[in-house]
Amino acid sequence: MNLSVEEEKRIFNLLQQKNCCLRCCLRFIGYRTPNCFQDPVTFVKRSEIYSVIEDSFTDDVPCAACLGILQNKIQELVIEKIQAKVEKENYDSDTFLCALTIPVCINLRERLLHVQSATELNLSEDALLNFKVKLQSIKDVWKWVMIPKIENAIKKQADITTPSPFLIDVIFTYKHNEKECETLLHNKKRKCNDNKFSRKSIETLMNSITDEDFAKFFKSWSLETTSSVDVENILCSYSSIFIGGRYSKLSRELSQTPWFIDGIKKMETSVQDIVCNPIIEAMKPQSIKFLSSGREDVDVRNIYAGRPFAVELINPRMTKITEKLLSNLVTQVNQTSQQVQITSNLKVLSRIDLKKLKEGEKVKTKFYRALCICRNGSKNTLSLEELNNTKRIKITQKTPLRVLHRRPLSPRIRLIYEMRARWAKPQELRNLLDVKDEDINKFFVLDIKTQAGTYVKEFVHGDFGRTKPSLCDILHSDLDIVALDVTGINLNWP
Ligand SMILES: [Zn+2]
Repeated sequence: MNLSVEEEKRIFNLLQQKNCCLRCCLRFIGYRTPNCFQDPVTFVKRSEIYSVIEDSFTDDVPCAACLGILQNKIQELVIEKIQAKVEKENYDSDTFLCALTIPVCINLRERLLHVQSATELNLSEDALLNFKVKLQSIKDVWKWVMIPKIENAIKKQADITTPSPFLIDVIFTYKHNEKECETLLHNKKRKCNDNKFSRKSIETLMNSITDEDFAKFFKSWSLETTSSVDVENILCSYSSIFIGGRYSKLSRELSQTPWFIDGIKKMETSVQDIVCNPIIEAMKPQSIKFLSSGREDVDVRNIYAGRPFAVELINPRMTKITEKLLSNLVTQVNQTSQQVQITSNLKVLSRIDLKKLKEGEKVKTKFYRALCICRNGSKNTLSLEELNNTKRIKITQKTPLRVLHRRPLSPRIRLIYEMRARWAKPQELRNLLDVKDEDINKFFVLDIKTQAGTYVKEFVHGDFGRTKPSLCDILHSDLDIVALDVTGINLNWP
């Protein structure tokens, strides 16, 4: 059953007497056209049904329902604050989305207004139900009024359909919020964890009590207030942007990520610094996360096609990414560093791409080239031929001693798919220090294709028996690894 025009009129007048602002009076009786909220005074004055009590459209008294959120004075303050914040943070986004956080006591107040009005106007149960259903949410009304003004102030378009990745979060607080909610909590004699209340617990509680009980709890309680909400904060954020590519690492003295001990940076730079710094400079994010498909040890190079990586730009200010910008970034990284090169194009990634990077870490095959030394034999006494004919060796690796402190895991089983070995040419040893002439025939080059997650160094030297079988076991020799390069990571990327 719908409310009659007469009932609506009485409600409208009563709400004004209870210090509700005009916008709240209109939303309580269910108006849903934005223009009546944009200029409520003119709208009501022109209407033949409703009349205005003069005080109710001045902002001197905080509204008993919205606590000022829908009143002009607070709205002007919000616009000012948004404008200042967006200007200061300097986002280049053309669009925005707006969200509100409002004190939960507003829910209590709305309900109390419903219940009190129904009693005072002697509404039937049906009429009260209908009255409740008509209520337009404070957030919707706020947006109808405010979005055009915000658009104008910050020169950006609101976009809720795409939706815009740029979010402006307006946070309202009310100094008596806690006290008002406690009235409900105490009456319910229910202590929510540590006597603290949450939005959720108040909402659950509200749903579990009848209107009669609710009215009883707030019997001695006045909706009148002298304080409005505070505009506690305006938070701006832009959704993360992910950029991906591949890098090669040409140094044996470089860690992948900055290396700190007790807060002190132990190495001047890192793969992450070299790749990310120009990107940070260009996109001005609040922070970044460097993601890669595995990592190299400090002394391991990654040559040829390089390792897949992604950079998460968290809350970036510069978001208009062109192909030209991306190719400039590649050039910049490659010109400024001898140690790291970007070996692919850079690409803006989707969520699906990222999944591929994560999954690839587990399933991909990897190719390595290792320079090994045979300590108790040489070209003349040891045959490498056996390795070239061996395929798919299953090995068991206990966590290597060198990483035991950070991840003591149960033994893992990995596959060595294929190997190729040949004795090293003298020119390949030129860059190695202290190779004595008599040792020159002791070095061999091993190309190896393995399952992801294989500890290659340990496979070669055996790690004091922790890897079984090792190359030492297979060749019945005392072997060690001198240098290791990653030569391929089998992932279609970016
Ligand atoms: Zn109001």
